[in-house]
Amino acid sequence: MMPSKIIFANGELISHNPTNGQEVGRVKVTDVEDVPLMVERARAAQGEWATRAVSERARRLRPLADHLYDLMEPVADTISRECGKPKVEALSSEIFPTMMHINYLADKAARTLRDEPLPDYWMTWLMGKRGRIVHRPYGVVGVIAPWNYPFWLMAGPALSALVAGNAVIAKPSEFTPLSGDWLRQLVAKLTLPEGLFQMAHGDGRVGAAIVKAGVDKMVFTGSTATGRRVMADAAQSLTPVTLELGGKDAAIVLEDADLRHAATGIVWGGLTCAGQVCASVERVYVAESVMEPFSRLVVEQVKALRVGEDLERSEIGSMNNERQMAIVQRQVAEAIAHGAKVLAGGAAGPGWFFPPTVLSDVPPDVELMRAETFGPVLPIQPVKDAAEAIRLANDSVWGLTASLWTKDVGRARQLAMQLNTGVVSINDHVSAAGCPDIPWGGTKETGFGRLQGREGLMTFVTPQAITHEALPLKRPWWYGYDRDSYRLFAGLMALLTTKSLGHKLRAVAGVLRHFDLRRLL
Ligand code: NDP
Repeated sequence: MMPSKIIFANGELISHNPTNGQEVGRVKVTDVEDVPLMVERARAAQGEWATRAVSERARRLRPLADHLYDLMEPVADTISRECGKPKVEALSSEIFPTMMHINYLADKAARTLRDEPLPDYWMTWLMGKRGRIVHRPYGVVGVIAPWNYPFWLMAGPALSALVAGNAVIAKPSEFTPLSGDWLRQLVAKLTLPEGLFQMAHGDGRVGAAIVKAGVDKMVFTGSTATGRRVMADAAQSLTPVTLELGGKDAAIVLEDADLRHAATGIVWGGLTCAGQVCASVERVYVAESVMEPFSRLVVEQVKALRVGEDLERSEIGSMNNERQMAIVQRQVAEAIAHGAKVLAGGAAGPGWFFPPTVLSDVPPDVELMRAETFGPVLPIQPVKDAAEAIRLANDSVWGLTASLWTKDVGRARQLAMQLNTGVVSINDHVSAAGCPDIPWGGTKETGFGRLQGREGLMTFVTPQAITHEALPLKRPWWYGYDRDSYRLFAGLMALLTTKSLGHKLRAVAGVLRHFDLRRLL
């Protein structure tokens, strides 16, 4: 009998390896009452940090990449054991993207966040407005992360927030506190103001306490259900939120796809991290003319995958926790009971292992096709043409990513614009998530806002327009109204904003008749 993934005892959170039930380690749980004090301390540190140039802030964070590289082995080991995922995935999908992200911030943040002149729209110019737009940090940013990529999904937003001039209060998932805690230990090696980056540990109550503790911005990655609660809590103080929530990604295999490449990419895109990925392939729509050879290739590859507890060698580990295991079991059982055919896998166990599973003939209305599965399951369904595939792909409450598999990239680009998702990959899936300059986020119930890239950095700042007047003249709309003011203004408006020559000529005449230089003094 496996123990619980986590146990709370004596003020500690004890985390276990889901593949074998062994303890990975423990952390001290944060007292909910302490969270507002953490925010106060963060705010005190942030004031001084915000006065530093972006380039200096990025330079101060840059050594983190080397510290992380030096500690890569223990960090990867913790992530792998605590998540139950292959160690190579801890490196390729958590540590590597974090290293790239740190480099990206060092190379690009200063340029992206530099002050901009006011856009040169001629009417604003004519009104005498000059000035700049500066990108102000919010202040204290709360970052709440899920358990599937517990290091990267915390490091990415937290480091962007810091470079943008904010302080950060971060909370890892209760299922993966030790992986998250590595970020705290690594940041502690930098010379940052005391309290600028703090971490709180615990369950959802600690997460909720962060949202309610007066932070200036929330960045939440997790389920749609919890995202709703975060947004409702944040609404009380009108705290802005960025929400990176669930997904039900579709992969669309067109008749001219390189089938071996598509099968290999989709098997990885659906099964990496045991399918516990927001952008996992959870529905495969295949042109009916290639359904048979494509499914054969997928099944061949899936059956060859090594599943097991030896995370140094296996390609698929276990489910992360009992809650997730129960969801996958329930959805697969329901699909089979309603007529789905099992082409590979299907039966759960031992322990929290769910074998990589391929299904066909899954009825479209079962939970497996409509709700997020977050498990190693690939349902494959034939479609008559691209139009049907696009319609089915869009028929979801989520919109994170989708992929198109074809040799005709031009056609795929056209089709991509019909997909209502935040990202579309052509001949690949998921990997855009790790590219530091690709904006990441979704549509519909996947949430809103973006992480990564220019848009991702803008998530952590608020624009402030600072204007001055080109000439120290009294503005024509200031007080001093008289009976001519209305006519004068109507004339000016016609002159500047209408297209008709007749209006403009009448306007010039009106302005000349009513204008008096003293109005400007
Ligand atoms: P949850 O929503 O269960 O938890 C996410 C985080 O929120 C955890 O740290 C959790 O703490 C915390 N939390 C729980 N309750 C509250 C609350 N009331 N207020 C504030 N915080 C709270 O998600 P999972 O951890 O199960 O992650 C899986 C989900 O994340 C999937 O739906 C997946 O699609 C999504 N995801 C989205 C991504 C994207 O980029 N769009 C990327 C990766 C995952 P605790 O765990 O301690 O309860």
